[in-house]
Amino acid sequence: MTMREVEDQLKDTRLYIGQFSQAVSMDIHRLNVILFSYLKEVGAAEEVTCPSCKQEILIPLIDGLDRETHCPSCNAPLDEGQQSLDDYTEEE
Ligand SMILES: [Zn+2]
Repeated sequence: MTMREVEDQLKDTRLYIGQFSQAVSMDIHRLNVILFSYLKEVGAAEEVTCPSCKQEILIPLIDGLDRETHCPSCNAPLDEGQQSLDDYTEEE
């Protein structure tokens, strides 16, 4: 195999990986939309607006799943200035 052929193959592989990862990420995005719409519909998700970047975040409220405490976009804490239910129970 010549150097030129190796380069061409590498280019093809890169292109393929790029298309593949794009397809995967589109699939994941689609699944995310379906999952979160469903969770919202059954009342198993809470909509929160990030105090920092103002993005709307759907937090899944599922037993055994840790509640998200930070914005997935900017990593700012979501519960700042807000007391969670756990805080109230601890006070009693
Ligand atoms: Zn944010």
